[in-house]
Amino acid sequence: MRDEFIQHLPEIKEELIAREKAFDGNFLHLTRDTVKTANGKIRSREYINHPGAAAIIYLFDDETTLLEYQWRQPCESAFLEFPAGKLDPNEDPLVCAKRELKEETGYSATDWVYLGRIHNAIGYSDEKIELYLARGLTTGDQALDDGECLSVKRVPVKEVFEMALNGEITDVKTLIGAYWLEKWLKGEMPVKSL
Ligand SMILES: [Mg+2]
Repeated sequence: MRDEFIQHLPEIKEELIAREKAFDGNFLHLTRDTVKTANGKIRSREYINHPGAAAIIYLFDDETTLLEYQWRQPCESAFLEFPAGKLDPNEDPLVCAKRELKEETGYSATDWVYLGRIHNAIGYSDEKIELYLARGLTTGDQALDDGECLSVKRVPVKEVFEMALNGEITDVKTLIGAYWLEKWLKGEMPVKSL
């Protein structure tokens, strides 16, 4: 399907003319590129550089999962989300997923399935999130980052699917994760290598 689109639109690539750092924050870095579009126009493209992230759908044998309730200052609101975290420099996403699950929920898992990658903000960021399904639990202690406050709850997956449809869940990785989890439980999720 993707190839069919490309056949009908062969020239879309933008040529990089110049690149500058627009902003360097503690966490966020903003780049401003000057590009030449496929039809010859010069345009400015600003975007946030992001290290990438991993998100974890923890599936218990009784078809419950773990959701976090976490404050998100950009929206000045709390959100229901699957556990997730940013990659450390050069960190493997699966290593990050295992670390974040342990840090945020205290759980460890023995069985990991790679569900896939999402690009959650392609209009203004290169951020990508790798989603994993984790099973085979052992309990431990949370080890939250200093200043990280979140509430973790075990929730039936059916309730997650309902909340993904009724507007209680709006976080994108959690919406996509719920969709892929439902497909996986039905045996309709293609197998992808870790
Ligand atoms: Mg997190």
